[in-house]
Amino acid sequence: RQLSRPRPRYPFKIPATIYAQRLYTMGHTVPPLKDSSLFIEKAFVNGEFVTAQSGETFEVHDPASGKLIGTCPEFTAADTEKAIQAAKEALPEFRRTLGRERARMLRRWYQLMVDNAEDLATLITWENGKPLADAKGEVTYAANFFEWFSEEAPRVYGDTIPSSVAGNRVMTIKEPVGVCGLITPWNFPAAMITRKVAPALAAGCTVVVKSPGETPFTANALAELARRAGIPKGVVNIVTASKNVAEVGEAITTHEDVRKVSFTGSTNVGRLLMKQAASTIKKVSWELGGNAPFIVFDDVDDLDAAVAGAIASKFRSSGQTCVCANRIYVQRGVYDEFAARFVEKVKEFKLGAGFTEGITHGPVIHSRAVDKVHSHVQDAASKGAAVAVGGNKAPHLGANFYEPTVLTGMTRDMQLASEETFGPVAGLFPFDTEKEVVELANAAEVGLAGYFFSGNIRRIFRVAEALEVGMVGVNTGLISDVASPFGGVKQSGFGREGSKYGIDEFLTIKTVTFGGM
Ligand code: NAD
Repeated sequence: RQLSRPRPRYPFKIPATIYAQRLYTMGHTVPPLKDSSLFIEKAFVNGEFVTAQSGETFEVHDPASGKLIGTCPEFTAADTEKAIQAAKEALPEFRRTLGRERARMLRRWYQLMVDNAEDLATLITWENGKPLADAKGEVTYAANFFEWFSEEAPRVYGDTIPSSVAGNRVMTIKEPVGVCGLITPWNFPAAMITRKVAPALAAGCTVVVKSPGETPFTANALAELARRAGIPKGVVNIVTASKNVAEVGEAITTHEDVRKVSFTGSTNVGRLLMKQAASTIKKVSWELGGNAPFIVFDDVDDLDAAVAGAIASKFRSSGQTCVCANRIYVQRGVYDEFAARFVEKVKEFKLGAGFTEGITHGPVIHSRAVDKVHSHVQDAASKGAAVAVGGNKAPHLGANFYEPTVLTGMTRDMQLASEETFGPVAGLFPFDTEKEVVELANAAEVGLAGYFFSGNIRRIFRVAEALEVGMVGVNTGLISDVASPFGGVKQSGFGREGSKYGIDEFLTIKTVTFGGM
């Protein structure tokens, strides 16, 4: 559908009736937004919602129904340049604002997210597919980054340092790094953006966000809330692209005026962007792919808790989080019992569209993801794994649905052992010794999250220290928390988000030496 009808200039509002009717004619069963002006088919540059210079757009589809949600501007490098220019022009004034003033802006943005939580969750479910309850959880998690970093903004302290040179005095000042390019994935359409934007603004940086082509509408709603929160124009810009993503990405990562790139996404794209960012020696942080080991030792205190932890870690967002358990290693003494209870739980799942009452799991993002998931299952089955539940596409629900699947009798030569599946498939690997499983766990090239269940305190310390990952969950399957540093090691990248460390990614240290004192 070519949206060629004349568009009113911002501020505009799609009347709720037209919006509801549009949904109706498209056959959607999406609850209309309470505030329909949060549905915006534009990009956001210098405080205004804009189209691409070329007028080109790309389509965004509902992963559950496959139907068109709307379109967004297909930006080029030239459009992106304007956004970078806006961020550059806004920087001198914004970096001079008091930390407490920036804190108040972030706090207002936080409150607006809370006030509009239902609409934001609706947008997330619509374009990402996750169940509405999960989308609501994401909105809370995402908003928390604004609250958290509003509290960090006024507390950016430097040091006074005893000099080793007689007569000198030394102090440090922490300063915003400058214009930041932030590139985020579709799996958390709100939280991946706020986890970067909140510390950047708290530090006094201005930003150009490249929102994901699959989920631009949540990002645009956040931009509208930023405007309402009184964030000055040019401080937050959002560029949108699908076909032109490489061009837009290159414009951001090679631009002289962008001093920091923070990227969340796959390791392969991260590798490319790192090369591009090298051309102008930018400060960078990379939150890349994972392949989390989840280990159950036979000295576990509570096997049901281990099952629940594995279910939560593996199947959240239909297996599409970077910290999802990918390889579940279970010691032989509890393997059969664990597998039986795990399979029972998976059989209770209700697969369906995210807005449908009572469903527990939604679609995956697109048919390429379905194909990847299915190829991992077929590869494992062809090498001897047993399909205990699931194992098939679910076309009666839609093209992007895959049955929650459990594979038993997994071995290390199977694709799932070394590649991130990013879908609703749990592979259960038996193991014998702690040494063996730690080696298996660490064999991955990536190291984002790892989990294990054990009741032995000495083993808990040993294994937590031995796992080559950035985050370890001990006797829990859920580790994401605004207060905890989030990030990986090895090819999962570097840099930390959230926590007291997250703001450092957007600051530089200036040393001031006073001579002749
Ligand atoms: P992706 O790498 O394909 O895309 C991520 C983002 O990069 C998207 O906005 C995409 O449009 C953009 N992009 C793609 N090619 C680009 C290019 N050439 N230049 C600039 N931008 C480009 O990843 P995805 O499929 O959207 O997300 C899933 C991946 O993200 C998984 O590997 C997952 O583990 C990872 N992830 C990591 C974390 C983390 O915190 N470590 C969090 C969420 C997701």
